[in-house]
Amino acid sequence: MHLVRVALDVPLPTLFDYRLEHTRRELIGARVLVPFGRGQRAGIILEVGGQPEVPPERIKRVAHVFADEAPLAPDVLQLMRFASRYYQHPIGQVVMGALPQALRRAHASRDASGRVVLTAAALAADWSTLPARALARRRVLEHLRAHGPCTPALVRSLASTAPRALRDLMADGWVAFEEAVPPGLEERVAHAATPGPALTAEQAEALEAIGGTLGRFTAWLLLGVTGSGKTEVYLRLIERVLARGGQVLVLVPEINLTPQLEARLAARFPGASLAGLHSGVPEAERLRRWRAAESGRASVLVGTRLAVFTPLPRLALIVVDEEHDASLKQQEGLRYSARDLAVLRAKQRQVPVVLGSATPSLESYAKALAGRYRLTHLSGRVSSQLPSIRCVDTRAQRLREGLSPALIDALARGLAASEQSLVFVNRRGYAPALLCFACGWSAPCPRCSARLVLHLGAARLRCHYCGHEELVTRACPSCGNLDLTPAGQGTQRIEYALAQLFPAARILRIDRDTTRSRRAFEQMRQRVQDHEVDILVGTQMLAKGHDFPRLTLVGVINADGALYSTDFRAAEKLFAQLTQVAGRAGRRDAAGEVLIQTQFPGHPLYRAVQRQDYAAFAQLALTERREAGFPPYAHQVLLRAEAPQREVVERFLGRAAHAGGRLGFRVEVYDPVPAPVARVAGRERGHLLVQSTSRNELQRFLAAWIPQLSDREARRVRWALDVDPLDL
Ligand SMILES: [Zn+2]
Ligand SMILES: [Zn+2]
Repeated sequence: MHLVRVALDVPLPTLFDYRLEHTRRELIGARVLVPFGRGQRAGIILEVGGQPEVPPERIKRVAHVFADEAPLAPDVLQLMRFASRYYQHPIGQVVMGALPQALRRAHASRDASGRVVLTAAALAADWSTLPARALARRRVLEHLRAHGPCTPALVRSLASTAPRALRDLMADGWVAFEEAVPPGLEERVAHAATPGPALTAEQAEALEAIGGTLGRFTAWLLLGVTGSGKTEVYLRLIERVLARGGQVLVLVPEINLTPQLEARLAARFPGASLAGLHSGVPEAERLRRWRAAESGRASVLVGTRLAVFTPLPRLALIVVDEEHDASLKQQEGLRYSARDLAVLRAKQRQVPVVLGSATPSLESYAKALAGRYRLTHLSGRVSSQLPSIRCVDTRAQRLREGLSPALIDALARGLAASEQSLVFVNRRGYAPALLCFACGWSAPCPRCSARLVLHLGAARLRCHYCGHEELVTRACPSCGNLDLTPAGQGTQRIEYALAQLFPAARILRIDRDTTRSRRAFEQMRQRVQDHEVDILVGTQMLAKGHDFPRLTLVGVINADGALYSTDFRAAEKLFAQLTQVAGRAGRRDAAGEVLIQTQFPGHPLYRAVQRQDYAAFAQLALTERREAGFPPYAHQVLLRAEAPQREVVERFLGRAAHAGGRLGFRVEVYDPVPAPVARVAGRERGHLLVQSTSRNELQRFLAAWIPQLSDREARRVRWALDVDPLDL
């Protein structure tokens, strides 16, 4: 029997068997339509041949092979299989989830690129052996012989049964699908590159070093201070790759960062075909761009994490910008690290990968120190000095709505000199809590173990975890006190305070509340660039890579929380955030100034931030991690579970811990604990950490452990494994 095994978007860790006449290895990666349940589903053939796992008579036929679509490339399938295995996610969901929406559906995708061609087998065959009634097949063959390669659409229009004939001929190996690459594209690209700025000595050195490894696998860590011109190094590398006719994949952590980069690429390489892939691109356009990458027509693909799975036949370089950013790790479903998969993919394809950051993840930095990644530095800024960074000791000062006199003075000076300032507060809303000082009550979310955040304007209390909203109460529901106090500072409160202090200033708040749409963010960014804004108030949205040329002052409020967080990564995140936000200050002609308000001005972390000394911070943090046995010196897996009742979660995790402990692997199984926010939207959440110094041992443990998790009780909880978790 001819059997194919198909990946379907079904939450089961298995492939599904179907019959297909004329199976050939070339069908691996092909998209098919198969009967499933009462309907039909689209899937991808991953295996051909083999023995069925169910009685043969129960195996159904493949309903349709999308013969005019190119099969997924073997390297992409291999990457998907790895991701499924390593991150413990059903293979069918990995494969289908990585495709554009249109290809997950059970119908043909209209934008198939490329041509249908006759194969050598067809040319050598005796066409008179075709059955007499195979008129459509003859017609297709003869048309192709007479006119040469044709589009699938044209072939299908030759006769009413031509689509089926095309499919059969494809299955028989008489016709094949050939990717269309417009001739001469590479030459155009190479000549069209507009000249960039002169390189600094450090940039030139980095370019030579990395450029020297084109054509083979090398993982590079490009550690460059903010403003050191990492992007220019990327652009020069891309230029070299395009001149050789290669494709480049550029991964960025956030959709908001893509327009700037795309614009820069387009300006530098006006002749090149660029494609941006992220969730903001409309579906049909996304498919078109994916096809352009897959067929080799697009030379540069800029995308967010999912783009790592895009087929790229001429891939020659991968760049992962802001490689430390947590957004590169998916937090649900397939919980993969796009950065780690990018390194794997580079290795698979034998091409260099460049991980760029001013504050690399400690994982990547440790690999560089150990010689597994090559390290290259950009330690100086291209066109300005590093900002002067000062800590403002708030213990000795009277604050006005959270603002210190030193910061208020600096803001006033900035206004007088008509320069721009940024006040960075990592909380949106007016105040993170509404408190009653008479009895200690604070407005709780009824569905979460979290406090409600006060939002003015709408005069509402909102939960930032589940979205619950209620009107602000006038009196304490517990004691009747009429004097409720908003506690702490959010972006709204700072905005109001600044408006009172500087009535003439043009103030703009940028946070998730004011930028619900992507266009809103772009428009605001434009207003800042056009100098229609004097003072910006914003959350970490603003910290990432945005170039605001007139910004000379940055004030940081309420950063201390991370210093006493239970999350062992909190210090790393804070260092990265402060470095990024400080990096916004003083880009061009004016040296910038950064004021960090803190109660711990002598803390080693702030000292390292002040000196912009990543290496010093990393040494310190890595020593702590080594002593505590945390990543990167151990590998972790988190079993997350949630259910409406706490006892159910506790019982499930307790049994999982017990089962894991008895398996006898060299892993540490910790006790189950409630999640940091234990209840969200009425569901109790808990987790269990498993850790090992050996990645392989941990993977073997998972293989033995997972089957034991799915017992009857497990149906009452929603659980998931998070391999290499970033948030505990
Ligand atoms: Zn009260
Ligand atoms: Zn809530």
